[in-house]
Amino acid sequence: MTGSRAAVIRTEGLTKRFGRITAVDGVDLDVREGDIYGFLGANGSGKSTTVRMLLGLVLATSGSIEVLGDAMPSAARRVLPNVGAMVEGPAAYPHLSGRDNLSLFDAMGPGGDRSDRRHRIQEALERVGLAAVDDRPVRAYSLGMRQRLGLAGCLLRRPRLLVLDEPTNGLDPQGIQEVRELLIELNRAGTTVFLSSHLLTEIEQMCTRVGVLDRGRLVLQAELAELRAPTGRVEVHTPDVVRMRELLDGVVEECHGQRLLVREADPAALNARLVLAGIRVTRLGVERRTLEEVVMAAATASGDRFEAETSGADR
Ligand code: ATP
Repeated sequence: MTGSRAAVIRTEGLTKRFGRITAVDGVDLDVREGDIYGFLGANGSGKSTTVRMLLGLVLATSGSIEVLGDAMPSAARRVLPNVGAMVEGPAAYPHLSGRDNLSLFDAMGPGGDRSDRRHRIQEALERVGLAAVDDRPVRAYSLGMRQRLGLAGCLLRRPRLLVLDEPTNGLDPQGIQEVRELLIELNRAGTTVFLSSHLLTEIEQMCTRVGVLDRGRLVLQAELAELRAPTGRVEVHTPDVVRMRELLDGVVEECHGQRLLVREADPAALNARLVLAGIRVTRLGVERRTLEEVVMAAATASGDRFEAETSGADR
């Protein structure tokens, strides 16, 4: 599915060392047009450093970066006008209103006459739910309002790509929900979204594709739907555990109390069989792994590899 869509971010062997610390280690990112790409990793795993390299704010030690088809940072002047970014929390002048901040920001943008610009700013404020805010200075804004103002700044350029480092950091649940809806809406309108987060649930609820960074390494990169595809097993809850095990001899792979996992791809066929045998079923459905399980498995596998390499080096 990814193959037919244009590459929006592509890195090869992207590496950043700070002295003896390897913050980002041989990362191959593949973000396609239309993705909401969730870049997941624990604190300190190298997400911010990667995001900064993508935007040309930090120079890579080695490896290559292409954003919107052009090499970064050498083509930054051509690339960045098409990219909306929020990396170090929303930057704004605290003594000015949100609208005035956007006017200043817009003055650096695509131009147009005064009414064009006013209209563009009003539209951006409306999209982030700040249109009704009076002229109070930004220093009186809540963190959520500042984040939304930051997003409004990103939107002014109508970017093809949005790059956001932990965009919901510090927001209350309602603010998180609003940012999530806004990003989904922007994505539907054609913007590719790349966001970093240390929150698994956030990625799971919003993203179409996920990359997992663990100690600087990309240990997993895939479509969310692929990761959450059925495992080929059916989960059945029944009070008739013994009879069910007898009936399905050999295909019951796990049994935890009244919950059994059965090797069977077709839940309807299994259900029919159980009904026919008079086995009571209180719940039945295909088994899917949660993103948490997938991520834990990938991180463990990478940890094992890391251990193996370390012991190899000792020899
Ligand atoms: P967080 O969410 O906590 O910011 P992160 O996943 O974004 O974490 P980075 O900020 O990219 O991680 O940091 C990755 C590693 O690189 C950390 O060990 C960090 O201490 C180190 N690091 C980052 N920037 C620098 C720097 N300028 N100088 C030295 N080390 C740095």
